[in-house]
Amino acid sequence: MIGPVLLFVLFVLSIFYVIQPFVNDNLAVDPASDNDDRLSSDALNKVSLLKQIREVEFEKEIGITAEEDYVRIKNELMQEAAKVIKTEPVSAQAKPKTAKLQICPSCSASVKAGDKFCGSCGTSLS
Ligand SMILES: [Zn+2]
Repeated sequence: MIGPVLLFVLFVLSIFYVIQPFVNDNLAVDPASDNDDRLSSDALNKVSLLKQIREVEFEKEIGITAEEDYVRIKNELMQEAAKVIKTEPVSAQAKPKTAKLQICPSCSASVKAGDKFCGSCGTSLS
């Protein structure tokens, strides 16, 4: 008589362990995505967008989402992701380059961006 009971307990426990991550994930995702909107942090947005894309792909795969909805939602998410990915490296890379060096239009010597005159030939740079 103990055998079936033990099997049943193990069965319930294994189901609990399988379901638990999904339950915890759902509880954790909802407040986090609200925070993403308020913080509007690029890194967090990127992570949450990638998560949403994966979720949409998964839902399409198991048949929850219709083909047209899947295409529309994924396109929207990809555009959002492209925006986030574009704004991030450009703003990080463009600033140091333009701030460091200029080239004198007269003698092609390197001059500092803030300089008014070329240190090599004295041409006005303004
Ligand atoms: Zn010069």
